[in-house]
Amino acid sequence: MKTDIQNQMFKEVKDKTVFYRAQQYAFEYIDEVLNRNVFPSQEALDNLSIFDEDLPSKSTNAEVVLSQLNAYGRPATVATLGGRYFGFVTGSALPVGLASKHLATYWDQAPAMQVLSPIGSKLETVVEKWLVDLFNLPKGTCAGFVSGTSSANLCGLAAARYRILKRQNWDINKQGLYNAPKIRIVTGKQAHSTVLKAISILGLGHDTIEWVEVDNQGRIRANDIPELDSNTILILQAGNVNSGAFDDFATICDKAQTAGAWVHIDGAFGLWAATVSKLKHLTNGIENANSWAVDGHKTLNTPYDCGIVMCNDSEALTAALHMAGSYIVQSTQRDGMFYTPEMSRRARVIELWAILKYLGKQGIDDMILNMHKRAKQFAAELKTIEGFTVENDVVFNQVIVRGDTDAITESVLKNVQELRTCWAGGSVWFTTKVIRVSVCSWATTAEDITRSVNSFELAIKMCDLNSANT
Ligand SMILES: *Cc1c(COP(=O)(O)O)cnc(C)c1O
Repeated sequence: MKTDIQNQMFKEVKDKTVFYRAQQYAFEYIDEVLNRNVFPSQEALDNLSIFDEDLPSKSTNAEVVLSQLNAYGRPATVATLGGRYFGFVTGSALPVGLASKHLATYWDQAPAMQVLSPIGSKLETVVEKWLVDLFNLPKGTCAGFVSGTSSANLCGLAAARYRILKRQNWDINKQGLYNAPKIRIVTGKQAHSTVLKAISILGLGHDTIEWVEVDNQGRIRANDIPELDSNTILILQAGNVNSGAFDDFATICDKAQTAGAWVHIDGAFGLWAATVSKLKHLTNGIENANSWAVDGHKTLNTPYDCGIVMCNDSEALTAALHMAGSYIVQSTQRDGMFYTPEMSRRARVIELWAILKYLGKQGIDDMILNMHKRAKQFAAELKTIEGFTVENDVVFNQVIVRGDTDAITESVLKNVQELRTCWAGGSVWFTTKVIRVSVCSWATTAEDITRSVNSFELAIKMCDLNSANT
């Protein structure tokens, strides 16, 4: 006996029409995404109201479901896969990454335990080794495969909290934070908001932070870092989210290590500089930290969502994220859930593995060096246009640009976004409004940059016209 809906689903599996349909729509998307307007049209945005309906009382034909997504969802996507999306620090996705994720979607693996997914467990073991090698981290450094750097920061700092308290015979898992010995937190004034979020989730509180001044690139001032001790977590940054600047790890990590402090590095997109021969000087000294957070989905261009926490104290990380239960089957191989906050999660390591294998060391180096060169090009071409000032040293993939006043900057940004040739976001750099350009797509070419700079030029001319008219 089968229910009606079961019969329907067995039929869908057998004739595969819905799968072919999804594939066809996906291929059409891939064909258009590199060339289309980066941001959806107003019409596409307005049409999203089609989704405002009550949950259907009866089942809907699967082809109708897909067709709605294709007709109304697809035009309302942002073309972050293409070469002219410079918003936030977003990253595209490599073809082999999309393809392997597509394949792995059908496998639907949850690499919580080795018995749940031997392939997931194997690839996590292999990729962990590859990453330790690529970033040149200490032997024995472990990795947890999480949804992004927000989560990786949380995990790294949870490991730090566990270890610092444990050294004082305080078991955070049993005894909690009430009456626990005090943990000091030292970080630069430009720490990423997700670091602050992790600090609050961990119950450490923002008021405990000892803030350190930063220089004009947003780097923590090494000389202003207070005396460190073994109760301190020092949080550093590889890649300032605006300027792309790197803290002086060589000087700072060495000092911190001597003092016995725990160093956590937020390297969401910047840690990848370590894999590029011409840029790896930026990350000198990171090997002396204790935990690192990095994304796959930004600079490496894995599909979403993919982040990694790495930690040289495997016991601290797994104890901080500990998990027990009578039904849990611990293997002698890797059980991924001991390294992540979640028990069940998708096997995102599959695309990560595929991309690393596909590119190899040379391919990674080439791809990321190209992002750097395209960012330099963006800055250089902007500098030739009257009215634009580039605010940062372009050491990696980020360019900060502004007009002569905040008002001009805001209106240029609005014009750029409305022109839709490319997309960049706004930010505040110290006290000035700026436009932030992040080059982090494999697909970005020299022509994409020139086309985008032309759009910036048009955008600033439109401001002149507007002000002339008023
Ligand atoms: C993007 C980013 C984060 C957050 O990472 P998610 O992958 O979005 O969770 C943290 N720190 C820095 C410096 C970032 O650029």
